[in-house]
Amino acid sequence: MSKPDRTNKSNVPMSANQNKLAEHIAALQACTLCPSMIGPVITHAVVSSKIYLCGQAPGVYEGDLGRPFAWTAGKTLFKWFSSIGVDEEIFRSHAYIGAVCRCFPGKTSSGGDRVPTLAEVKNCSRWMEAEFKLLQPQLVIPVGRLAIDVFLPKQKLSEVIGKQYHKEAFGTACDIIPLPHPSGASSWFKVEPGITLTKEALVLLSAHPVWNETFKQI
Ligand code: SF4
Repeated sequence: MSKPDRTNKSNVPMSANQNKLAEHIAALQACTLCPSMIGPVITHAVVSSKIYLCGQAPGVYEGDLGRPFAWTAGKTLFKWFSSIGVDEEIFRSHAYIGAVCRCFPGKTSSGGDRVPTLAEVKNCSRWMEAEFKLLQPQLVIPVGRLAIDVFLPKQKLSEVIGKQYHKEAFGTACDIIPLPHPSGASSWFKVEPGITLTKEALVLLSAHPVWNETFKQI
């Protein structure tokens, strides 16, 4: 299966910030800090955006497909965004996608994806911190429990989804609108109160000025 080319293929020269982001992504792709993680490192394209979506960790298929949210969870996530007027390729080309961990953690004996260890989360947070310094995002969308816990105090999903927060994250003041994880393994967003709260979170996103500024000419 061919992998997407993450370099800037347009004839438009990259800005200094995009150059720095490209250098950052190249360094990230070479990371081997976590011995139990399974490569390749999954990175986003060189998209200098004020919207930062933070996933949890890639699944088993993302390595072959070469981009985050490339499998079933992504289908649901981008269906949600389509419902508020932004399709998958538009989102991918205008928002930056990071994650708590950028490598596949492997499977547990019961067949689920292994939850990254605290040490792995800590190792990988240096990359997110560097991205926040470069991009200074104003709207952050953590997707799933592991990602939400990076930005907000631990709470039940039913207490945290459907709300907007203003916080400082990695030295950047930003609005945070969390979403549940769209994985097929999760049923939270398929039953109440998850159905209603997920819709409320999407309404908040669609009304957010940074969301509208980013996607308004599309
Ligand atoms: S999970 Fe993150 S820190 Fe660990 S090896 Fe992968 S890219 Fe590096």
